[in-house]
Amino acid sequence: MHWLANLLWHDGKFLGIEWNEWKVIGWLGNAIFFSRFFVQWYATEKRKQVVVPAAFWWLSLAGSLLLLAYAIFHRKDSVFIFAYAFTWIPYIRNLIIHKRHEEAQRACPACGVVCPPKANFCSFCGTKLPVSDSDP
Ligand SMILES: [Zn+2]
Repeated sequence: MHWLANLLWHDGKFLGIEWNEWKVIGWLGNAIFFSRFFVQWYATEKRKQVVVPAAFWWLSLAGSLLLLAYAIFHRKDSVFIFAYAFTWIPYIRNLIIHKRHEEAQRACPACGVVCPPKANFCSFCGTKLPVSDSDP
C-alpha cells in the first residue's frame, strides 16, 4: 500500500498537481465536461439509437463555463480563453430547442402516451390525434 500512497501523494502534491482554488475549479470543469460523454453514451445504448439528452447540454454548459472562468481568471491565456468563449451559444440554443420540443409533444386522448409534435396518430394505440393549435 506504500507504493499507492506514494503514487497519490508525491513531493507534497496530490497526483503530482500543485493544488489551489483555481486548480479545483479547472479540474471540476474538466470532470463535468468529460462526464457528458458517459451521459450521452448511456442514453444512446439505452435507446439503441443516437440520443443527445438535455443533461448532455447542461453538463457541456457547466463544464465549459468553469473552464472559461479558469482560462480568464487564472491562466489568462488567449488561446485557452477563445477555445471556451463561444461554446455556450450552441449549448444554450440546444437547451431552448429541447424545451420547445418537449412542450410541443401531446398526450394521446385515448391512452395517454406522449406523441411527437407533428404526429397525426398515436404511435401506441393508433387513435387519431386532435389537430394541434401550433399547426399552421
Ligand atoms: Zn394512444
